[in-house]
Amino acid sequence: MKIDKDKPWTWIKYKEGMCSGCWGSCCTMPVEIGAADLVRLGIASSDEVEISRKKVAKKLIKKGVVSSYREATDLYMLVQRSNGDCYYLDSKTRLCTVYELRPGVCREFPGVGPRPGFCPQRKK
Ligand code: SF4
Repeated sequence: MKIDKDKPWTWIKYKEGMCSGCWGSCCTMPVEIGAADLVRLGIASSDEVEISRKKVAKKLIKKGVVSSYREATDLYMLVQRSNGDCYYLDSKTRLCTVYELRPGVCREFPGVGPRPGFCPQRKK
């Protein structure tokens, strides 16, 4: 069966080392991040996020880094390029440009996500 990132039932069981040589399908899926991630990424200060999450959202939407903010979950949606790539994904190397500072959800994948423990691997 062909692996399709939009069809989690086609994903394969994750094993260590699988990320090497991968095209980065997981970095083409919607990514929601929290205020602590914004601070770690250096795109908002801890004071700013304490004072007003909505103001931070307004600033980052204007900057083109996040596309929306959901008050109910207190999460910000990272911008995706027109081809689905994450704002922080390098289109040529297919590597994360902020790897050391990447959001918590990216660190936990594929432990979390649409099908925990499984991966939409696609070779380069
Ligand atoms: S922040 Fe980095 S690891 Fe997370 S989805 Fe974007 S490119 Fe991938």
